[in-house]
Amino acid sequence: MFEKFLTGKTAVVTGSNSGIGLGVAHRLAKAGADVVLNSFTDSDEDHALAEKMAGEHGVKVRYIKADMSSADECRALIEKAGACDILVNNAGIQHVTPIPEFPVEKWDAIIAINMSSAFHTTAAALPLMRKAGWGRIVNIASAHGLTASPFKSAYVAAKHGVVGLTKVTGLETAQEKITCNAICPGYVLTPLVEAQIPDTMKEYGMNREDVIKKVMLERQPSKEFATVEEIGDTTVFLCSDAAAQITGTTISVDGGWTAL
Ligand code: NAD
Repeated sequence: MFEKFLTGKTAVVTGSNSGIGLGVAHRLAKAGADVVLNSFTDSDEDHALAEKMAGEHGVKVRYIKADMSSADECRALIEKAGACDILVNNAGIQHVTPIPEFPVEKWDAIIAINMSSAFHTTAAALPLMRKAGWGRIVNIASAHGLTASPFKSAYVAAKHGVVGLTKVTGLETAQEKITCNAICPGYVLTPLVEAQIPDTMKEYGMNREDVIKKVMLERQPSKEFATVEEIGDTTVFLCSDAAAQITGTTISVDGGWTAL
C-alpha cells in the first residue's frame, strides 16, 4: 500500500538505534525515504545499523550522533542532516519513582529528552520544510500524553507537553503543506519497557509475568502489546497524501487504553 511513495524525501528520526525509532525508520525506508538515524552514542554498531538498513531498502541511510538532552545538539542534528522533509521526534527515556523521591536530575533529563528536544528539532526543521514546500512532523508521544499513571511524574508531564507542542505546531503550519501530529502508543515491548519491569516488580511486589499482565496490559483492553511495525506504519500513513488534512492532533495506537 505504501510502496516507495517517499522516494526523494529525507526523514530524520531521533533516538532510532533501538525500539520504536528503529522500527519507524525501517518503515520510512521501506516506503522509499532516505533516513537519518540518531542517538547519543557513536559506536560501530550504530553505523552498521545504518549500512544494513540502506542495503535492505535500497535508500541512503546515515547515522548522526547527537544528544537530545542538549538544545545545541538537537539543532545541529537537523543542520548536519542538510534536509529534513520528515521529522520524527522519538527519543525518550523513563524513570519510575514516587514524586517525593523522584531524582531532580532524572526529572530534568526526561523533560529535556522527551519534550524540549522536539521543540528544538522542530524549530530547526521548519525553515527547511518551508523551503521545500512540504513537511511532516510526527511526535512519538504516548498514552501517557493523554492519561496518567502513578510514579511517572516527569514522563507524563513531558508527554502531555509534547501533545501541546503538537497542537501549536499544527496551528502555526496549518496553511502550508506541512502537518504535525502525535502518535500515542500504549505499551510496546521495547528495551524502554523491559527496563521498567524490575522497578515495577519492586513497587508492586509482583513477579515479571504479573507486572506484564496485571500492571502493563491491565490498562490495554486488547491485552496485547502494540508493535514497532504498527507505530512505523502509522507514521508512514501520516506522511501520505491521505493524511494531508490531519494536523495538530493525536492518533492512539493503544489497544483501546484511552477508551476506558
Ligand atoms: P528505547 O529505549 O528502545 O528507545 C529509545 C531511543 O532513544 C533509543 O534509540 C535511545 O538511544 C534514544 N535516546 C535515549 N536518550 C537519548 C538522548 N539523550 N539523545 C538521543 N537519543 C536518545 O525505547 P522505546 O520504547 O522505543 O521508546 C521510543 C519512544 O516511544 C519514547 O519517546 C517513548 O517514550 C515512546 N513510547 C514508548 C512506549 C513503549 O511502550 N515502548 C509507549 C509509548 C511511547
